[in-house]
Amino acid sequence: MEKVSRCPVCNSISLTRLGDHTYEFPGDDVKNNLISKKYVRRWILFKHILKTDDKSTVFQVDMCGDCGFIFSNPRFTAEEMELKYKLIDELGSVKARVSNYPEKYRDMRAKRIFDLVDGCRGDLGLTGSARVLDYGGQGGVNLKYFDENGYACEVIDYEEWPMPGNVKYAGRTLNDVQGNPEIVLCNHTLEHVVDPVDFVSGIANVMNNDSLLYIEVPLGAFYREYQRVMDIEPLTHVNFFSEQSLKEVCDRAGLNTHYLKTEYQQLQTVKYWCINIVVGKAPARENIKPRSTSSQLGKKWGYFGEMAVDRLMNRVRKAAGMS
Ligand SMILES: [Zn+2]
Repeated sequence: MEKVSRCPVCNSISLTRLGDHTYEFPGDDVKNNLISKKYVRRWILFKHILKTDDKSTVFQVDMCGDCGFIFSNPRFTAEEMELKYKLIDELGSVKARVSNYPEKYRDMRAKRIFDLVDGCRGDLGLTGSARVLDYGGQGGVNLKYFDENGYACEVIDYEEWPMPGNVKYAGRTLNDVQGNPEIVLCNHTLEHVVDPVDFVSGIANVMNNDSLLYIEVPLGAFYREYQRVMDIEPLTHVNFFSEQSLKEVCDRAGLNTHYLKTEYQQLQTVKYWCINIVVGKAPARENIKPRSTSSQLGKKWGYFGEMAVDRLMNRVRKAAGMS
């Protein structure tokens, strides 16, 4: 790990500290706590990354004054992240959790992604089936509608999962992918990587001039997100995006923004505020202006309010027997 004094996205030295988070060593009984992400990740942090007998450690959250990127500090090295995924894979902890996800929500989500990306392709005059790559796509569930509509679907992930329909597992990294996919999906991955610009640039390298990349991340520039996630453990989310910083990452990777929106949307088990962006090498039809990190941080009560209204409406619908 390395404490940094420059923004990992834009290299600015203008950093503001948003807060500190302290973590305790959870104990040595990891095999009996695989269902607990908090236990597993804290155990990996202390035993395999810090390699310390200390019983607690502190991370801080910083915000860049120039590009608005919010991130945990110290930063992990690429090797430490690789080690983390290797250990998670060996422990089988993700599969233990994901196997419980309800199918109804998985479908809803897969349909939304298909409609959005297919719509963006249509706007660019691109029609018909194409090659789709889901980067970090676990068991390929987000590819359901692409697969059903005749797209050739592949997944890269650090674990190999059983795949539905005609979806294929390509391997662990972009190096395992042959040729150039016309669509790349990258759901809830960018908040985990050490160097987001390098990561998106790597994807851009395998894209054609007409290819589109869909990125979905949790809205990190939201009090509940960076505070709550960082309070649990510091190994999972290391980047907390706003529209501004997400677009900045894509700009720096040489990709133009075709769609950008922050929405309260259904994920695999919960509804949550997420940023959706579609980018590509093709020129964008309009100049999309991102919401700034400070404006998204400032909308805290608005985001909480909309979540509360949504929950209330669901309760009303349930009581009325509508769902
Ligand atoms: Zn920055």
